[in-house]
Amino acid sequence: MTYPIYHNLIGGQWVAAASGKTILNLNPADHSDVIGAFPSSHAEDVALAVAAAKKAFAAWRLVPAPKRAEILLRAGTNLLQNKEKYAREMTREMGKVLAETRGDVQEAIDEAFYVAGEGRRLFGVTTPSELQNKFAMSVRMPVGVVGLITPWNFPMAIPSWKLFPALVAGNTCVIKPATDTPLSTYNLVQALIDAGLPPGVVNVVSGTGSTAGAALVEHPDVRAISFTGSSAVGSLVAQRAAATFKQVSLEMGGKNAQIVLDDANLDLALDGALWGAFGTTGQRCTATSRILLQKGIAAEFTEKFVARAKKLKIGNGLDELVEVGPQVNANQIETTQRYLEIAKHEGTECLCGGHALTSGAYAHGTFFEPTVLAGVTPAMRIAREEVFGPVVCLMEFSTFDEAVEIANSIDYGLSTSVYTRDVNRAFTAIRDLESGITYINAPTIGAEVHLPFGGVKHTGNGHREGLGALDFFTTWKAVYVDYSDKLQRAQIDNAE
Ligand code: NAD
Repeated sequence: MTYPIYHNLIGGQWVAAASGKTILNLNPADHSDVIGAFPSSHAEDVALAVAAAKKAFAAWRLVPAPKRAEILLRAGTNLLQNKEKYAREMTREMGKVLAETRGDVQEAIDEAFYVAGEGRRLFGVTTPSELQNKFAMSVRMPVGVVGLITPWNFPMAIPSWKLFPALVAGNTCVIKPATDTPLSTYNLVQALIDAGLPPGVVNVVSGTGSTAGAALVEHPDVRAISFTGSSAVGSLVAQRAAATFKQVSLEMGGKNAQIVLDDANLDLALDGALWGAFGTTGQRCTATSRILLQKGIAAEFTEKFVARAKKLKIGNGLDELVEVGPQVNANQIETTQRYLEIAKHEGTECLCGGHALTSGAYAHGTFFEPTVLAGVTPAMRIAREEVFGPVVCLMEFSTFDEAVEIANSIDYGLSTSVYTRDVNRAFTAIRDLESGITYINAPTIGAEVHLPFGGVKHTGNGHREGLGALDFFTTWKAVYVDYSDKLQRAQIDNAE
């Protein structure tokens, strides 16, 4: 079998991992399709990458931000030119359907164009000094070498959310892509190289989380870690990074609720629920995994929803007619199966799906049927823990207040959605739902790059991507310029 061999990018050179070992990247729809062999990197590879980033920082931080932004603009154009190729490669390595991988590449393009505009802003603040003949301002400085650790479900969009703002702000980067989907990060970085990014400004180190990822988190010269992944790993990353006082941004799991009130446009709510629950095979941090139904519409919604879930076409995402691709790997299938066992013991009823698909066209991939569970109550584990697969829980409620209470009764707080025609209820929900994102009459998925993205509670640690990213990738410097030609003591010389 022949397949391409990929290397790490360190200081502008493509080099093999010191161990010489590689990890095969397999198509989850067909394991006989090998996308390539990627380096299995360890601490020594990470150390070389961090050293290269540290060296490059000296010059990159001095490049004017509008010039750094021009590189991003060109990178966005490069991505646009290769959109179809990169989308197809992403479907091969990750499984989601072509319409969605095209959207993933588009998100990186949007991010490039959005962040490029920041090159001419990066606004600071001027403010009056309390002393005469003294000027005060606050300016944004780059943080230094930043480590970026990303998941497999948005293999190009999420790396772009981190790389582009980090770069425009003048940081240099070491990125550790998800083990299952390194190629899309390579494609993203290639777009930057082709756009003229100097060597060492971005370095790529592939490998597992416990080796390459952990080494990046622990390296003393890395000043910040931007992590997206599970809450379990995020907690570990935060604890380890604390030892060297790194800034840490964590974007983590979700258990997102769509609330459907009695007065909702039911067909719209059905469309949203189907897309929110089974788009990306349920493998989105914002996926709809709980549908909260008001009693008046519950029976009708359930019947129609199950009928439509049963009809979804499952298969290889490269087939344009397919609506639900495979799960990313066998581990994810096992997790889905494990949670369905838990749900069964908890007394839920499986209305459709519930099984891995292992024969015929599905024999060489990791496929799972879209699954709908009914009779779910808020205390059950299946109602509280993230499955990250095509599994959705139906839950019933009587009053609006009860729906908000159920939606908020979990540890996660990423995305929520409410379907109603009552504007008072909509605004009350916006105020009361504990989540970083709330949609009205739209599904829990579908973020746009120029709004803040992130969650509360166990979903995040207070940072935001999108609108908030520059706050993470810059550090404030307060500047005082005294032109009085005398010593002026704040709080003393001007006191009454
Ligand atoms: P994961 O936590 O298993 O891995 C995420 C990344 O961390 C990978 O690159 C992995 O190799 C690395 N990693 C693993 N162990 C590590 C360690 N000890 N030290 C450093 N790095 C380590 O998550 P995943 O399975 O790749 O992705 C799915 C999860 O990501 C879900 O929980 C999902 O909700 C979450 N997610 C969150 C967002 C968001 O923005 N909130 C977006 C997408 C996905």
